[in-house]
Amino acid sequence: MIIDGTAVATEMLSEMKHYIAMSAHRKPGLAFVLVGDDPASQTYVKMKRKRCEEVGMTSYVVRLEVDVTLDQLREEVDKLNNDEMIDGILVQQPLPEQLPVSDVLSMIDPDKDVDGFHPVNMGKLMIGDESGFIPCTPKGILKLLSASHIDLNGKHVVVIGRSLIVGKPLALLLGQKKEGLNATVTMAHSGTQNLKELCLTADLIVVAAGRPDLLTADMVKQGAVIIDVGVNRLPNGELCGDVDFEPVSKISSHITPVPGGVGPMTIAMLLSNTLKSCRKRCS
Ligand code: NAD
Repeated sequence: MIIDGTAVATEMLSEMKHYIAMSAHRKPGLAFVLVGDDPASQTYVKMKRKRCEEVGMTSYVVRLEVDVTLDQLREEVDKLNNDEMIDGILVQQPLPEQLPVSDVLSMIDPDKDVDGFHPVNMGKLMIGDESGFIPCTPKGILKLLSASHIDLNGKHVVVIGRSLIVGKPLALLLGQKKEGLNATVTMAHSGTQNLKELCLTADLIVVAAGRPDLLTADMVKQGAVIIDVGVNRLPNGELCGDVDFEPVSKISSHITPVPGGVGPMTIAMLLSNTLKSCRKRCS
């Protein structure tokens, strides 16, 4: 069965649109900081702004030159931190060398960090404090699993990839002692020696490595659930995930496609975190 991320995201967006239209408060505001002129980053920001417009949120873009200094960037982020109309701030990655990602993420007010990457929000995730923001891709994956009525209680999950934006937070979330979760989680990465053996014992495999065809049919147990996070551009210009989709889809019980699986959920969760921030600020 194919898990239709576009459908789940569309439903979420339409609920948000309705909520915002009925709300007596001001519209939620989301600010993007775009450094340099990387075409992929520009496309991502454009896509996210389009969704903001569709649900009735106000979006802003701060464009900075590629050689902007850390201090100049901090000044711009501070203005957004102090702007009452702004509920969420997203600094689009990748960033040029003179702007270390960890320094930049720490500049954002944790209460406006709708990406959920600030150390305060990462720490809250670790201790199970739900007042923080959960990173959008892992949050979107949890929503896809619950919308598909997949119960992970006591199941073995392999998460391939240990990045701060997907693998690590997702592994923590799936192992939480909560209804529908409570899984036994293995986090695999580039140093893992026995990936095939691990995957063959998994009830759910999440692949977030950025390697086309990393997960092949001979690595998958009959009836396993497969979540493909990878987004790779093939030489012919087509997009693909990290899973050898056709053969794996015949063995799995559920599988997400690329595009149309996890991607739309990531944007929906960014807007959901912005709405959560606005509600808090306006209440
Ligand atoms: P990253 O590039 O920071 O890290 C990749 C991870 O994969 C590393 O932890 C590495 O150890 C692991 N890895 C690489 N090769 C491996 C191998 N052969 N075996 C096992 N592990 C291996 O990862 P990221 O930023 O989490 O992104 C991963 C992929 O997910 C990329 O394709 C990215 O574009 C995509 N992505 C998609 C979304 C979405 O919304 N759909 C969101 C975030 C990332």
